[in-house]
Amino acid sequence: MIIDAHTHTFPEQIAKRAIEKLTAKTGHAIAPVSDGTVAGLLNTMRAAQVDRAVLCPVATRPEQAEDILTEARAIRDGARGEDAARRLIPLASVHPADPKWAKRLQAVADADVRGVKLHPYYQEFVLDAPDTLAFLKRCRDLNLIVQCHCGYDIGFPRDPICGPERVAHVMREIPGLRFIAAHLGGWLDWEASARHLLGKDVYLDTAVLRHGVDDPHALRLLREHGPDKLLFATDAPWMSFDDGFAFIRAAGLPADTESAILGGNAQRLFSITEKGSIG
Ligand SMILES: [Zn+2]
Repeated sequence: MIIDAHTHTFPEQIAKRAIEKLTAKTGHAIAPVSDGTVAGLLNTMRAAQVDRAVLCPVATRPEQAEDILTEARAIRDGARGEDAARRLIPLASVHPADPKWAKRLQAVADADVRGVKLHPYYQEFVLDAPDTLAFLKRCRDLNLIVQCHCGYDIGFPRDPICGPERVAHVMREIPGLRFIAAHLGGWLDWEASARHLLGKDVYLDTAVLRHGVDDPHALRLLREHGPDKLLFATDAPWMSFDDGFAFIRAAGLPADTESAILGGNAQRLFSITEKGSIG
């Protein structure tokens, strides 16, 4: 089973505008490989034989959390079609500055949604600030997976609010938290990621975009991080599945490690069955 642990979709009515806006924000340094809709993602998955994808919405304002959770349930429960329900594992998102975050995290757990997506740049928080640690501790206690953007972001100035050193601090403070540090622990900061995260009890997703495919430190992370702690990811629609596969293959890993990264690890982490994500 091939599973992408980090993808994005947008509601049909705003997908076109959202994709244009995000592309422009990066000075067109990235180009989308689909139209950003659920249907578009499913089409590219079928073409590349990707079986499942984890959806990572971001609540850029606190009040968006409720609609995001409603949509996650709708996708999971079949309201967006049978194929979406079977193939997509929707996450929720809660804004750490939301005064109601504790209630909202509880609602995510009660809905049996697997976890939350966080993005420190779009949500304007520092990953290991005391308030964030309280938020993340609650995620651990509710057994919610946290999938978090880490490292720099192509659309923002280089302010290290969620770099690898902060990820390592979070993991020291909150043992047992199931934390996915996106972009191999720190986008465009892979040397620091190797220094602070290599071999630690933290999941790293492989969505490096084209900026990371030739980076020696990124490749080192692929080769030397715990083989059960690496998750195939593309940040779709911002990297094609084929480019994502090529990056993994470039590491020259043993076949069983490669297949664990491409899907086995995510299957276990997200409790994905042949039928769907609820089993
Ligand atoms: Zn992303």
